[in-house]
Amino acid sequence: MTTTGIPPLPKAELHLHIEGTLEPETVFELAARNDVALPYRDVEDLRARYEFTDLQSFLDVYYANMAVLRTRADFAELASAYLRRCPGEGVRHVEMFFDPQAHTARGIPIEDVIGGLTDAVDEHAGSVSAGLILCFLRDRPASEAADTLRAAEPHLDRIVGVGLDSAEVGHPPSKFTDVFDRARGLGLKPVAHAGEEGPAGYVREALDELGVLRVDHGIRAVEDDDLVARLRRDGTPLTVCPLSNVRLGCVPGIGLHPLPEMLAAGLKVSVHSDDPAYFGGYADRNYTAVRDGLGLSAEQLRTLAANSMEASFVDAATRDALLAEVAGWRP
Ligand SMILES: [Zn+2]
Repeated sequence: MTTTGIPPLPKAELHLHIEGTLEPETVFELAARNDVALPYRDVEDLRARYEFTDLQSFLDVYYANMAVLRTRADFAELASAYLRRCPGEGVRHVEMFFDPQAHTARGIPIEDVIGGLTDAVDEHAGSVSAGLILCFLRDRPASEAADTLRAAEPHLDRIVGVGLDSAEVGHPPSKFTDVFDRARGLGLKPVAHAGEEGPAGYVREALDELGVLRVDHGIRAVEDDDLVARLRRDGTPLTVCPLSNVRLGCVPGIGLHPLPEMLAAGLKVSVHSDDPAYFGGYADRNYTAVRDGLGLSAEQLRTLAANSMEASFVDAATRDALLAEVAGWRP
């Protein structure tokens, strides 16, 4: 039994930005160690700024806090702290996003970012399997994304896929068609944030222009019946983050979240935590939120967990073993 009342349902975490697991206490610890001046008095002052009005208001605090991450050891500590939580949350497999540009722009070598994250992944391999998804910042030029992919090429054996994140509106997926072509050519699995704040048309673009195998968020797809029919027909996974959607004002409240509608439409949705240090909780809290806030049944929670396993990029034998664990879960 977890503190929130759901015995740890085995699940895969497929929509988690590792930088979004940076807890306020860690921001202050790393700032002290690395001699970084923070524009906040203390942890409480920082926490008080977590009242977001939209995606951009969150991103402003999010990028400011990343200034404390300086060394390979910092990145290892960040990811280790997250991976240590996973067994207690029922998280059996993680495909974590990271944003190299947010660090290389501050002069941090990409080797230190990837090296630190993979140090943590290796350290915790006995308790949770994990892979990395390199995300491009969509509000930066496409040429910078191409440079980032090139810089990451010596490390591709440690990277599962590429993603697209940051400020969505005004930065359609089609801006990144070329770099996604290149990434797919290198054997990387493509995913992209689409239809979070941006329109359903961005989901369509992510499918058509980037060839994505999963859509991150995708909640606004429900506004387009033809798109819903296509997503259902193709079994395209959508990684939905309920607490994030509420905290960023993408939905007016948990009770109005479109997740039940997406499940009823036969979409392959799963539930994830996005930037849990900022949005009020990790995987388990997101499951609890949809159980309590939307009245989802234990069997619906099981479906969400099974969808997360099916949507993961693990090999078929591993996926079947994970699905068997979900089937064996007793609420
Ligand atoms: Zn996200």
